Amino acid sequence: MVERDIPRHRWPRRYSLLFTLLGLLILVEVLTVFAVLASQRFATERALREYSHELLKNVVDETRENAAGYLGQAQDAVELARRLFESRLLPTDMPSTLDRFFLAQLRVDTHIDGLYYADPQGSFVFSKRDPSGGFLTKIIDTRKSGDRRVTMIGRDAELNETGRRPNPEDTYDPRTRPWFTRAVDTHAAIWTDPYIFFTSRQPGLTVAASVRDADDRIIGVVGADIALSALSEFLKTQRIGTSGAAFVIDPDANVLAHPHDTPLARHDDANKLRLKQIGEIDPVSARAGTKLKEQVADLHRLKETVYDKFEVDHTPYLSMFVPLFTNGQNNWIMGVYAPEDELAQKIREGQRESIFLGVAMSMLVVTAAVLIGLIMLRPIHALQREASEDPLTGLLNRRCFDDYAGKRLATAKRQNKTASIIMADIDNFKAINDHYGHAVGDEVLLAVARRIGRGLSDVDLLARYGGEEFAIVLPDTPLDQGLQVAERLRQAVGNSPVKTSGGEIPVSISLGVAERDSHHHNVDRLLRRADQGLLEAKREGRNRVVAV
Ligand code: GH3
Ligand code: MG
Ligand code: MG
Repeated sequence: MVERDIPRHRWPRRYSLLFTLLGLLILVEVLTVFAVLASQRFATERALREYSHELLKNVVDETRENAAGYLGQAQDAVELARRLFESRLLPTDMPSTLDRFFLAQLRVDTHIDGLYYADPQGSFVFSKRDPSGGFLTKIIDTRKSGDRRVTMIGRDAELNETGRRPNPEDTYDPRTRPWFTRAVDTHAAIWTDPYIFFTSRQPGLTVAASVRDADDRIIGVVGADIALSALSEFLKTQRIGTSGAAFVIDPDANVLAHPHDTPLARHDDANKLRLKQIGEIDPVSARAGTKLKEQVADLHRLKETVYDKFEVDHTPYLSMFVPLFTNGQNNWIMGVYAPEDELAQKIREGQRESIFLGVAMSMLVVTAAVLIGLIMLRPIHALQREASEDPLTGLLNRRCFDDYAGKRLATAKRQNKTASIIMADIDNFKAINDHYGHAVGDEVLLAVARRIGRGLSDVDLLARYGGEEFAIVLPDTPLDQGLQVAERLRQAVGNSPVKTSGGEIPVSISLGVAERDSHHHNVDRLLRRADQGLLEAKREGRNRVVAV
């Protein structure tokens, strides 16, 4: 088998189609990824809202449950006491019995801060927690007419008495308090608005109910105090991102609970303790409160969730306000804020994942497309080769040569350059075939093709034009140089015999050369003129070059 070492560069490069397709495919992929990312950005705003809503809804639900839970406990305790008093199972005229009952209740219901009973004569039993973990009782006894005695009793956590003293300076009259006046007017339990407790100086609220005899006459009022600090303690346990916060306000924007380690109450200008306003707990809550007021002028009317977005110190925040109770229990409002970035982080993480996925998928698709493209193009390439290649020598065939030579000559004309064409034909080839056989003839043909190929430069175009005929285009080559090339080829072929399976065979070629004339670039015309030169060379005895 004879080696095919004719330079590859003589091959037309038809990879451009593949690269164009690939480029288009990659472009489509990149555009798709960008489109997806853009639409995601667009959807982020909505996703943020939904996510923050979800987050807040959980906090609101739990806070509501928690608050309702211990508001309910206090109300239950009051209702129980009332029933016991009205059914006379518990006497209301024995202060020490009332105190023991209240203390037992306080030890069970940890959310209740104090329990008390007052009668229309001004007698009063008030049992409450003290800050040390023990209990404090105040008894005002007015049963002996004209005689008002106030006694304070201290107890430790196990209810052991730690001290007892009279307190004649105490002028407290329960009958003047709002819970008393409101409770005697109705059969239902009443809730006061949050206020600062008289004795503990802590903000809280009171639930109270009237106690009546069989004739519906008031025999007293029983009540329970709840300190609001418990609600704040609960809010501290609620995580809103890492720097968000949840708080509870009333419709007058008093803060009933917040998660900060600062007191709920503060002294006003008149040195009176009052609840803090929403503007007084932290800058972000303050801003959220202002924005809320812009949307809902009268907070008593807040019925639906109110969202907002604002900036504090160049940090964007999201806020949300929602009525805490929907059953009309009271008009408390739950507020939550969190930096937008914290809420968005989860979404951004998701986005980053999808970007990564998108890019990975794109790369996969492009790789697959390239592989499929290469596999699919393989038979097309083979067909292209077959259509343009001479199978024996691997040179361009005639059809392809006409095509390419036409283009080269057109280029030469455009660039105002010349070009030459050579036609070469093996001498007495029929005799070689006849003497050595067709197979050896093929070997000679191939060897001649190789010798011609090696004698040409990369820009030259070489084709097997007919049986044992070769055509060559020499771009940018005037006739005299073309003549030199032809002479060189003649020598390269004829200088040494070709080694074949049938032995060494001397071989020669005849060549005709023609130059492109200044006005025409027609291949046929030029080929015909080169062919004339070739015929002339044959006529003159072969193994020679004739220029036209
Ligand atoms: P001249 O010097 O005048 O060119 O003489 P010639 O014998 O070379 O010319 P002619 O055209 O009479 O013969 C060409 C021969 O080349 C005829 C044909 O059988 C042979 N031939 C053409 N193609 C092939 C081929 O692919 N392989 C082989 N072995 N022979 C071929
Ligand atoms: Mg011949
Ligand atoms: Mg011939």
